[in-house]
Amino acid sequence: MIRIGPAGIPLSCKERTNIDGIIYTRCLGLSAMEIRFARGFISNEEAKEIKRVAKKCDIAIYVHAPYYINLAGDKRNVKMSREKIEKSLYLAHLMGARIMTTHLGFYGNLSKKETMKRIVKNLRAIRDRVKKRGIEVPIGLETMGKKEVFGSLEEIIEVCKRVRGTVPVIDIGHIHARCNGCLKEKEDFQKIFDALKDLNLNHYLIHLTGVKYDSSGELYHVPIKKGDIPVIKLMECILENDYDVTIISESPVVEHDAVYAQILLDRAMEMMK
Ligand SMILES: [Zn+2]
Repeated sequence: MIRIGPAGIPLSCKERTNIDGIIYTRCLGLSAMEIRFARGFISNEEAKEIKRVAKKCDIAIYVHAPYYINLAGDKRNVKMSREKIEKSLYLAHLMGARIMTTHLGFYGNLSKKETMKRIVKNLRAIRDRVKKRGIEVPIGLETMGKKEVFGSLEEIIEVCKRVRGTVPVIDIGHIHARCNGCLKEKEDFQKIFDALKDLNLNHYLIHLTGVKYDSSGELYHVPIKKGDIPVIKLMECILENDYDVTIISESPVVEHDAVYAQILLDRAMEMMK
C-alpha cells in the first residue's frame, strides 16, 4: 500500500488544530499525516483524540520530534534531547502513531566514529527506558541533508542495525542534497532501497520535498517542481517493486505537493499498464 500525506497541519486548512488537519487531509484524498511539535508538545487528551479521529478518517499518523536534538553532545544536550525524544514517543504511543521520527545530532569536534558510538549508546538507553513503560513505537532515524550533521544513509543504516526498535526515515531531499544532486534515474532510487535490504523492512517511511543545495549539502526546501528531483522515477521504482511506503510531504507547499506526489504516482501507474 502507498500512503501520502502532509507534514503538519495543511497550510490551506483554516482551523489550525491537528484534529482539523486530519479531517482536511482526508478531504484532500490523502491518507497519512505527520504530527509535528513546532509550537511545543500537545496534551495527552489531544493525543488520544487524534488517535480516535485518525482511525475514523483512515489517516495513518506519524510523529516528528522537535528538531533540535543532539545525542552526541555534552551531558546537558543529551539530557534535553533524551527528554524531548521520550516525550515525543509517549505522545506517539497515545496517538497510535506508526513511527516517531527524530534527528540524531552533530559531529561537532568529534570524529564520525565517536559520534556514532555516543548516538548508539544514548539511543539504546532511550529505547530501554520507554520499553519499560510499555511504549513500542519504532524510533525513525532521519537521513540528514547537511554534511556537518550526523545522518548519511550509511550512518542511519548502521545505527538501525545496532539499535533494536529503530527504523530508517528516507528523506529523499536530504539524500539528494548531501550527494550533490545524485538522484537522477530510477536506478539511483533503487540503490537507496537496495542499501536498506539488510534491515529486512516491510514498510518504508519517506520524506519528500524539492531542495536547493550546494557543496555543503542542503540549503533549503523548495516545492517539488522548483527542485531537480525526478519524483516520477521514485514512483516508478516504488511501483515496480511493489514496496509498502508512506510518503510525507515536507515541501514548503505542503499539501499541494502531497497531492502532486499522488498525481505523479497515478501517472506512473498509468504508464506501467
Ligand atoms: Zn526531520
